[in-house]
Amino acid sequence: MRSDELTAPDSAPVYAPANDHEPIPVEAEPREECGVFGVFAPGEDVAKLTYYGLYALQHRGQEAAGIAVSDGAQIVVFKDLGLVSQVFDEQSLSSLHGHIAIGHTRYSTTGSTTWENAQPTFGSTSVGTGIALGHNGNLVNTAELAARLASRASAGTQPAATTDSDIVTRLLAATATDTGPAEAAMTLLPDLAGAFCLVFCDENTLYAARDRNGVRPLVLGRLERGWVVASETAALDIVGASFVREVEPGELLAIDEDGLRSSHFAPANPKGCLFEYVYLARPDTHIAGRSVYATRVEIGRRLAAVDRVEADMVIPTPDSGTPAAIGYAAASGIPYGQGLVKNAYVGRTFIQPSQTIRQLGIRLKLNPLRDVIRGKRLVVVDDSIVRGNTQRALVRMLREAGAVEVHVRIASPPLRWPCFYGIDFPSRAELIANAGAGEEDIESVRRAIGADTLAHVSLADLVAASEQPRTRLCTACFTGDYPIPIPEQVGKHVLEGIARSVEPPADQAVTGTPASPSSSGRGQTVGASYGAADSLRRP
Ligand code: SF4
Repeated sequence: MRSDELTAPDSAPVYAPANDHEPIPVEAEPREECGVFGVFAPGEDVAKLTYYGLYALQHRGQEAAGIAVSDGAQIVVFKDLGLVSQVFDEQSLSSLHGHIAIGHTRYSTTGSTTWENAQPTFGSTSVGTGIALGHNGNLVNTAELAARLASRASAGTQPAATTDSDIVTRLLAATATDTGPAEAAMTLLPDLAGAFCLVFCDENTLYAARDRNGVRPLVLGRLERGWVVASETAALDIVGASFVREVEPGELLAIDEDGLRSSHFAPANPKGCLFEYVYLARPDTHIAGRSVYATRVEIGRRLAAVDRVEADMVIPTPDSGTPAAIGYAAASGIPYGQGLVKNAYVGRTFIQPSQTIRQLGIRLKLNPLRDVIRGKRLVVVDDSIVRGNTQRALVRMLREAGAVEVHVRIASPPLRWPCFYGIDFPSRAELIANAGAGEEDIESVRRAIGADTLAHVSLADLVAASEQPRTRLCTACFTGDYPIPIPEQVGKHVLEGIARSVEPPADQAVTGTPASPSSSGRGQTVGASYGAADSLRRP
């Protein structure tokens, strides 16, 4: 289904060239929705394993982080806004004892950035057991699920969280009272529409589930004394787990002291996210058996054949453009060089820059190596163009550093459509690829960013570089062909309106009140005892 069948196309944006002194705002990069991690490993420090697993997945979400641990008798959840390294320290990790853990790093695609919306979420059954859950992806029938939850809920307080993940947790907990979590999941999961990789646990069992389309990656790994599930293979490597296989689309895994069991809640219809190969996943991850790094190098090789240009040096926009630039240089014979140095940590801080600092724009993130750039005809390879602000600022900065020509090459086709499956692209009107019309698109974008030439890799070449059949991929942000139908009411804040009419049982409300892990009762959500209240006031 194309989204223009649902809504009228947005009007094209207007891009005015900047004068020489105007600071150009640096746009946010496309943001992944979340990373998930789970471990079942008696005798291991599962909280610390999960901490390092989340560290490896930090690029998938930088707004909040959390870990839930079960010792067989109770589940303790510790979560807060911030990076993994900001949320956890030795003291907090040492308070999380058990043999099962799940972890989550969050960037919001449904619901606001609040402590309540951090994950893992928690739900209690009416018999006093608990379910903690982490979700990567985005559901497209959240309103329907919220209505279903409302019809089950007795009078009580309003839900504190406003995420699709929280609704799923509460529905699972409500059903698990009668049937247990495994059966509850087999009943509920076929009714979830959209993209989801779930890790969840009760007091005794770790579960992992992946939507029938397998939009987001989820893999299974083996430890000497246990099992790991993670969003990316790189997280397995970092905790010393060996890769076993991908969790299959439509599969539910249950792992406990009796071992691993697999069930299928829906027939598989793979539609893996093509943009994971371009930008989202780590280069040291493998997806569907294909190295993300090798894919990006191959994209660059193919890109070198598009609109060939005479140049002195190929430079990447670090870091996501680096493998494609290496491939471009190898195929074109133009020497590869580093023309830009990235300040890797800026943008991942809660400290708001002053106006003086903000004026620096892209220089906060990238600094040119003037001695390398001066007098050169450059090919600059980047992974994608969203609004175009970054490339516009980049081209200007390279010219100011002495480049005599700047040829921009993009390792993906033009981004023209929003993603409803968990990536936070702007609206159609804000995507610069929609600025022109038809064949003039590329030329109008070239003018807007001030490059001498501009070229993208084709969709066919991108798909070929991934070594996946196109029929097994989602390409919607490039083509508008959405493999999972999109209801009209879908939107990031859909639940904040719905929440007013949903009244869950009082005992399921997550209040965010700080509490000591040691004071937790069986199956209770334990608020972060170190800074949870403070986190609500952070920018
Ligand atoms: S729309 Fe784009 S970013 Fe979203 S799942 Fe599909 S390919 Fe990935």
